[in-house]
Amino acid sequence: MFNAGDIVKVLVPNAVNSGYDYRLMGNARRGALVRVSIMNRPYVGVIIGPGDGKIAPEKIKPVMDILDIAMSDADIEWIIRMAEWTMMAPGAALRMILNVPDAFNPPRIEPLYTIDIPPKTRMTDARMAVADAFAANDNDAMTASDVQNIARVSAAVVRTMIKGGMLKPVAARPVTSAADYVSQYHDCGHITLNPQQAVAAAEIGRHIDSGGFSVHLLDGVTGSGKTQVYFDAVWRAYAAGKSVLLMMPEIALTAQFMNRFRARFGAAPVVWHSNLTAARRRDIWRGVAQGDIRVVVGTRSALFLPWQNLGLIVIDEEHDGSYKQEDMGNYHARDMAILRAKIAGFPVVLASATPSAETLENVARGKYFGVRLTSRYGGAQMPQIETIDMRGVKCAAYDVPDSEPGQRPGMLAPQMCDAMRQTMDLGHQVMLFINRRGFAPIVQCRHCGWAAMCPDCSAGMTYHKRVGKLICHICGRTAPMVTTCPDCGLDVTMRGAGLERIQEEVMAKFPGVRTALVSSDTMMSRAALERLVDQMESGDVDVVIGTQILAKGHHFPNLTLVGVVDADMGLFGTDFRAAEHTFQQLFQVAGRAGRGDAPGRVLVQTYQPEHPVMHAICTGNRDEFMATDMASRRIAQMPPYGQLIAIIIEGQKETVLQKFCADLAAAAPALQGGKIMGPIAAGVYQIRNWYRMRFLVSGGMTANLQPVVRHWMAKVRVPTNVRVKIDVNPQSFM
Ligand code: ADP
Ligand code: ZN
Repeated sequence: MFNAGDIVKVLVPNAVNSGYDYRLMGNARRGALVRVSIMNRPYVGVIIGPGDGKIAPEKIKPVMDILDIAMSDADIEWIIRMAEWTMMAPGAALRMILNVPDAFNPPRIEPLYTIDIPPKTRMTDARMAVADAFAANDNDAMTASDVQNIARVSAAVVRTMIKGGMLKPVAARPVTSAADYVSQYHDCGHITLNPQQAVAAAEIGRHIDSGGFSVHLLDGVTGSGKTQVYFDAVWRAYAAGKSVLLMMPEIALTAQFMNRFRARFGAAPVVWHSNLTAARRRDIWRGVAQGDIRVVVGTRSALFLPWQNLGLIVIDEEHDGSYKQEDMGNYHARDMAILRAKIAGFPVVLASATPSAETLENVARGKYFGVRLTSRYGGAQMPQIETIDMRGVKCAAYDVPDSEPGQRPGMLAPQMCDAMRQTMDLGHQVMLFINRRGFAPIVQCRHCGWAAMCPDCSAGMTYHKRVGKLICHICGRTAPMVTTCPDCGLDVTMRGAGLERIQEEVMAKFPGVRTALVSSDTMMSRAALERLVDQMESGDVDVVIGTQILAKGHHFPNLTLVGVVDADMGLFGTDFRAAEHTFQQLFQVAGRAGRGDAPGRVLVQTYQPEHPVMHAICTGNRDEFMATDMASRRIAQMPPYGQLIAIIIEGQKETVLQKFCADLAAAAPALQGGKIMGPIAAGVYQIRNWYRMRFLVSGGMTANLQPVVRHWMAKVRVPTNVRVKIDVNPQSFM
């Protein structure tokens, strides 16, 4: 406890600071949130300890206000340890928690609108996005800036919709508060776990009851009922008066999931993601801070809510790439959740059908507990998985001009087409998976070699037929499609196939077929994804064609054939996790088939049927595959048998960048038991007109790399127009 007149250290949420001294004007404890000012700008910060007395007492400014919200000692410790680990400033780590500035102010008074789209209105993509923004907030009234931010549309779109009466001003201002989001939950689902589930739930439950830190891998095949097992854990922690965080990838936050939650606990959970209105963010943040909201289902950012008395974190699809944040501070939400649990002393449950190598290794070493569910719930069969050897198949590839006589280009092998026909004849549904958006990834002149490149990135542009444009998949820049080569004037060729082209092929081969496309282009929001789920359930779609968005969490009982169009695509990655990620993706996609009564079938088109990934997919032998993959990583000292820190240096001027990299290389420390590689050009050398170089620091499991890098970076001055990004345990090597 600090008293009036004491000098305290206050950490404020900005990217550079690690705390400043202020004088208290009242009593407050460590962890209390306070208002202070820095250069006349107001901030809400947190008291992290006594001041260090480095500033002359007469220069110390007062704490202006003490709020009635406080963080625990464990939370402060967590912020500091997180900053050390990720190498961000403590203020940057704190900013992730205090990033809801509205939470400390009275509700803002701004005009609110509801949506009311008259029938027969032409629904542009932008209007659809606006409708979906409302849907993501249970159709609450929202401000114009909410609409703009969430739907990612221009102010002009919003203005037109207001003028056209599609957005209607709300007369009386509904006042919301945290209380609107508080529910009482009951274990009313009357679920009986099967024997394997019961063993898993009991093991996790024992640790929840006894308290203390532990991590449990709930490792179960797709459809084994992991959800009901971790719901059991949720209930135990909640009933014991604790708060519970359930994290999932954004696209898994489906109505299907919410309905299951409601069926089990009698009320819907509070949902947290990046598309909430400012008012909702404010209310939920406050409700959590006050300890009134005790159960939240959300994306990785929900970890940074001001939790009170947190007693359990469940991380569904723990292997999922979306838990790693790469811009605005690099952190891995799974690892930071485990750190939080370790400091505060409570259990974490990681659920997956395809756990990451890191997690499997932690189970093998006995650091995490592992529980397994080896069969699907209720006796549904695992699908039968076969490869189609594409070598010599006469349909192959779109790298011939469409006009070439005598060729019927396509990507679907005859066996695939036969299986699709049989499936549709039975009235069942087909899913085709290709992890490539757009129509054709390469637009090129076959005569002079010219190719459509993004002017700002070192990347080719993809032709998107739906919108009739070329799009850069790195920066999103668009350009008009070209049909003749700008260099030699001859016709250009479209090479390779994305999902739009597969859709054309399906429509040509199966006249009258009803298709749906699923990618981030067509599924801008979860609401759009929900529409697809409805269409699938009501049988309005025969063939759904999509990217990895399809691989997650959906349960389509009438889907019995999954076709993987190009299984080899992921294997060409240079990243040491390429095989692991390809395996996870294919395994998850395959898991979509045959979840109802009818058995499922999966066909995988590949030019490398002998590849260990394909072999493992077909035999379902995940453990053997992961063991082989991990053995090679052990030899190479790659994670989980070594540590990596990537340093990405970006510059607007190539000469300045190269000079700085040379300086950095010259200042590189000698590393005991590790090495520093680089500088080398980054995988994508130019993004949005910034040139990019990389260093990679590697070391063994016990190496303490962060201090080495910190010391190294302190030796150089970063020139203007150069930025340095540090990525601890990088997942992307772009
Ligand atoms: P997973 O998440 O492991 O892929 P799910 O949790 O989606 O599997 O379960 C698959 C299906 O089995 C779901 O429809 C679910 O409702 C059902 N299910 C699983 N366990 C039970 C149970 N103990 N009682 C009733 N239904 C269950
Ligand atoms: Zn670009």
